[in-house]
Amino acid sequence: MLIVQKYGGTSVGSIERIKGVAQRVAATHAAGHQVAVVVSAMSGETNRLLGLAKQISSQPDERECDVLVSTGEQVTVALLAMVLKEMGYPAFSLLGHQVQISTDSAFGKARIKHINSNRLMSGLKKGSIAVVAGFQGVDANDNITTLGRGGSDTTAVAIAAATRADACEIYTDVDGVYSADPRICPHARKLRRISYDEMLELASLGAKVLQIRSVEFAKRYRVPVHVRSSFSADEGTWLVQEEAGMEDVTVAGVTSDLDQTKFTLLHVPDRPGLAAKVFGPIADNNIVVDMIIQNASAEGFTDLTFTVPKGDAQKALALVQTTAGEVGARGVTSDSEVAKVSIVGLGMRSHAGVASRMFKTLAREGINVQMISTSEIKISIVVDAKYTELAVRVLHDEFMPAIV
Ligand code: ASP
Ligand code: MG
Repeated sequence: MLIVQKYGGTSVGSIERIKGVAQRVAATHAAGHQVAVVVSAMSGETNRLLGLAKQISSQPDERECDVLVSTGEQVTVALLAMVLKEMGYPAFSLLGHQVQISTDSAFGKARIKHINSNRLMSGLKKGSIAVVAGFQGVDANDNITTLGRGGSDTTAVAIAAATRADACEIYTDVDGVYSADPRICPHARKLRRISYDEMLELASLGAKVLQIRSVEFAKRYRVPVHVRSSFSADEGTWLVQEEAGMEDVTVAGVTSDLDQTKFTLLHVPDRPGLAAKVFGPIADNNIVVDMIIQNASAEGFTDLTFTVPKGDAQKALALVQTTAGEVGARGVTSDSEVAKVSIVGLGMRSHAGVASRMFKTLAREGINVQMISTSEIKISIVVDAKYTELAVRVLHDEFMPAIV
């Protein structure tokens, strides 16, 4: 079999741990498999590098930022390949541009456009272990790019897709995907299997286990992904195509996301083209808008509320303030003390009354709902950040009571 393994920052956080990773990689290779390994930077390293850049500017040059942060992964591929060679295994490290992982030019959040698997495959066929730097790629002008925080997951799944791997194992410091964050929710349980669609919602809603783009890749190319612990041999969670019976479960998971800032444009003249004017510049700046609410207009005026990731809030605020002037809004307010809490499950398609049960549960706790959005298999609400954990707990207990 051809197996892609990905090890996150904690798993390669010290030389001792890198040696542990090498043992596991070597065992897989010794069992007769072809192995490509993708690694993240040592834990804390990407933040450390970003911290250096922030000492120079609050908005450091994006191209140079990618040159800077991509070094974290360059260190770990070299160290892991060194350890493997020291152990007598044929191994070789590859950086993003050497593979070639071609991306667009959106520095800091580039998208993979194409992977050239030739060099990788010829190494694997010779029996070597390929050690690939996660998180990084190269654009059409040979600039180094990075794929966004957590991007090594996406590197791994994309490599698995490009090499038609039999499995993509994501080794991390948790032992699988849980129905809620176990640190918040004592009754949370590990899911054995979850569909790509459910995982897409969970990942996009702030479940920190996998970068969302990795799940999109997995779904598109049907890559079987196994999320598991690098510190044990236990089975983790398999991401798979939807299968019979999955719909019987109404809610598979509850998540929260504190990484949102809410903006409101107040009292805007409600004319055709308003939304396009507001969201055009935001999109042009590669900022992903999440929830949007426009009030029914009264006397020709409306309020427009939306959320963006906290990291983009400063940039978004500047853009919205400019637009506010242009469209004649009374003003702009922003609130970063908000959280998005969501319930996700394929079973919502066939069970009625899920939303009302959700709102009743929150009402019982006196939690005010500020925004609501729904999709086929998800309901999200925005609440005051101070209620995040309570909301997750009561919703989990409502929809997934403890099995005693
Ligand atoms: N090192 C990068 C980060 O911390 C990429 C990754 O770990 O997946 O975001
Ligand atoms: Mg990660």
